Amino acid sequence: MEALAAFILFVVFAVASGPSQPTQPGSATSGESEPVAQAPPAAPAQPPVQPAQPPAETPGPAPEGKLQVYFLDVGQADSILVKFPGGQTMLVDAGNNDDGPGIVSYLKQQGVKKIDYLVATHPHSDHLGGMDTVINAFPIGKVYMPKVAHTTKTYEDVLRAIQANGLKVTAARAGVSVLQDGALSVSLVAPCGSGYEDLNDWSAVVKIKFGSTAFLLAGDARGPSESEMLTSGADLKADVLKVGHHGSRHSTTSAFLKAVSPKYAVISVGAGNPYGHPAPETLAKLEGAGIQVFRTDRDGTILAESDGKTVTVKKLGTSIQPRAPNSGAVAAPVPGVKSGEYIGNRNSKIFHRPTCTSLPEPQNRVIFTSREEAIKAGYRLCKRCRP
Ligand SMILES: [Zn+2]
Ligand SMILES: [Zn+2]
Repeated sequence: MEALAAFILFVVFAVASGPSQPTQPGSATSGESEPVAQAPPAAPAQPPVQPAQPPAETPGPAPEGKLQVYFLDVGQADSILVKFPGGQTMLVDAGNNDDGPGIVSYLKQQGVKKIDYLVATHPHSDHLGGMDTVINAFPIGKVYMPKVAHTTKTYEDVLRAIQANGLKVTAARAGVSVLQDGALSVSLVAPCGSGYEDLNDWSAVVKIKFGSTAFLLAGDARGPSESEMLTSGADLKADVLKVGHHGSRHSTTSAFLKAVSPKYAVISVGAGNPYGHPAPETLAKLEGAGIQVFRTDRDGTILAESDGKTVTVKKLGTSIQPRAPNSGAVAAPVPGVKSGEYIGNRNSKIFHRPTCTSLPEPQNRVIFTSREEAIKAGYRLCKRCRP
């Protein structure tokens, strides 16, 4: 499987993915009717660039229209829909495998007809699980992924969908300019290096600037990647930070947070998740800095809008998966700390208490909000923890 994944990876990556090459700016003014299949971008004969130089503040064109960023509630996973002022769209991550159909129908509800830019921050299944479904449902423009393989079927499915749809992947790395269109710019500020021990540090980190406002979408980047971003000299300042790695304590170092200094933080996280995300110390850091925190587990899908001058954030309360017990409720308080939550193994169809010593691998976990729900789903009781 490893060799196969590596082979497909080799096949789908665009030729222009050598070290430190900026990609060509996207054709930001093109209409909706472009052909789906794209030729691999030609290697621009430019010297390696410093990552994401901020454009000069004063002479920039005045922002027109609205930038909308939807942080979809996909439980313990990430998926972010961006609608650019000119009508183009970008999807960053696509939740878990089971979220694919829900994301597709949500995007259709939002009037999305084409995804101009698709970013898989890194190959973990809670970020690209639903991506094959999305790729098969919409015409796709450019695809960005870090150049690192992962030996899971979920990852392979995505590579196959990319290949089957005649798409090419542009290597995601710091310094890549995704699009530049008047007052709007989208670029990548990570990964700055390669060969990371932890797959999370390969995360593509997306910086969106619109007028005088900015968003930073940190994927699952952890401390090591954060310090590289800091030393790269990239402009990290943002009004809205999609907090790295579901708010775990391995991300959001104080130095990084200070450089970003957001007004708002969004944490994409599942209620009662078995990892204890978000970490209390991360929440304390954010709150201590006076940052307003939004969480998908409590607020459902979150919409951040910018007119180029100001950002406003709204709790939409909607969810991709049905939310139990009060589906779609706005700001439902998380009942207790994981009380009444159970963890199923999607392979063995056995469910456990969160404290069980034989919990399944993270990628095989299914969270049930009640015993009844687990039993109804056909899961059997673990003999060890007797849920
Ligand atoms: Zn994740
Ligand atoms: Zn991850």
